[in-house]
Amino acid sequence: MSNPDVIVVGGGIGGLSTAFALRRQGLAVRVLESAAEFGEVGAGLQIAPNCTRILHEYGLLDQVVKRGVAPADMIMFDAVDSSELTRLDLRDLERAYGFPYIVIHRSDLHGLFLDACRRTGVELLNDQQVVGYEQGTGSASVRLADGRVETAPLVIAADGLHSVARRQYVGDPTVSSSYVAYRGAVPIEQVRANQVDEDAVAVYVGPGCHFVQYPLRGGEMFNQVAVFESPKALAGVEGWGSPDELDAAFEGTCEQVQLGLPMLWRDRWWQMYDRDPIDQWVYGRVALLGDAAHPPLQYMAQGAIMAIEDGWVLASHVARNQTAGGVDWASVLAAYQAVRPEHCRRVVLTARVWGELWHLDGVRREQRNAILRSRDTHDYTFTDWVYGPTALFPEDEPEMYRAIPLAGAGQDGSTTHDSR
Ligand code: FAD
Repeated sequence: MSNPDVIVVGGGIGGLSTAFALRRQGLAVRVLESAAEFGEVGAGLQIAPNCTRILHEYGLLDQVVKRGVAPADMIMFDAVDSSELTRLDLRDLERAYGFPYIVIHRSDLHGLFLDACRRTGVELLNDQQVVGYEQGTGSASVRLADGRVETAPLVIAADGLHSVARRQYVGDPTVSSSYVAYRGAVPIEQVRANQVDEDAVAVYVGPGCHFVQYPLRGGEMFNQVAVFESPKALAGVEGWGSPDELDAAFEGTCEQVQLGLPMLWRDRWWQMYDRDPIDQWVYGRVALLGDAAHPPLQYMAQGAIMAIEDGWVLASHVARNQTAGGVDWASVLAAYQAVRPEHCRRVVLTARVWGELWHLDGVRREQRNAILRSRDTHDYTFTDWVYGPTALFPEDEPEMYRAIPLAGAGQDGSTTHDSR
């Protein structure tokens, strides 16, 4: 491929899903990935209906369902006394939003997008370290570490939390939450003795810590994530997040959590960062996307989903602004800029508050528990703005944008895809 229409910097879930979405519109797309191979680090991902509706439209949902698990419930427990606080009935949720709630191994979802890119002719290049961006006339260029320069009418910076483009165009710092995550995915046989719920996403929320469990790979594997406030990260000193801090943070938690802790990978851990929201994502012909634009804390499980939504929105506006003469990039980028930042701002800020609520102690923990227990299981007041398709359309022009086909999304909320 000599001159791509679009260069995508970064081959994570955001970059690959966007490359595939744009390729489906007939564009020549080149992905530049700094790593020697395409891949994902980590274990599980939760994929809510606002994402599975897009996967369905891409023709990938059946494979996602096959490789993942569609659990029956998401249940929140108090991590200290193990009492149930609230739950989502995920079968009913599927009926309400028209698409399922899936949990899937990160590398499986990433692999599906990688295969889809390969199948459709996206150019995928590794060992491509992008170090800077330049604007041209009706184009933008990337500079690579080896001195090469590549140019295209649109450059998408999907280079993650530590994005070079974000540093160049915005220059804001990452925000440390002082929370640290341990993860671990093990064969299901290893946790059966712990009486785990193999058909649920279980979230145990406790003072300064929480613990998440769910099945993966058709139920063959079990994913567990422990997150806690690291005293050393809080103090800004070396050695943050070590296993002794992990064990101390979960000391007062219930048996179900205690049984899960030894199964985590204890040789690596991740500090949790986000960034303050920004309202400008488009700089000339460079567009920020995914974590480069809106890295969230993980409490709403929407980071990868927002990246996939970003790509869907871009591609849907290419579809409506493309003629034989080419793509009207100014209109596409104006629409992208109009639709996405406000929704993602709300997710990033809500995730921070949601996390604070999870980690309350003392009387505030009791108050939280009382409020959560009073919620009706089938009340979707608090999920509509996230799980519905509203994130894909600007609120002030709903009629025009809702005409964009979202295959299978019944206007009446009827179920159009059955994962069972
Ligand atoms: P990344 O995955 O970071 O990809 C960026 C890519 O760019 C990488 O491949 C990198 O190698 C490449 N790159 C970087 N710099 C350069 C460069 N200079 N040149 C070329 N290439 C470069 N989200 C959900 O939707 N559901 C969940 O359940 C969920 N759970 C989470 C749990 C935890 C503990 C955490 C930490 C996050 C979770 N997330 C979840 C968030 C999600 O993982 C991220 O938001 C998502 O993976 C971001 O994808 P991305 O493609 O934008 O960025």
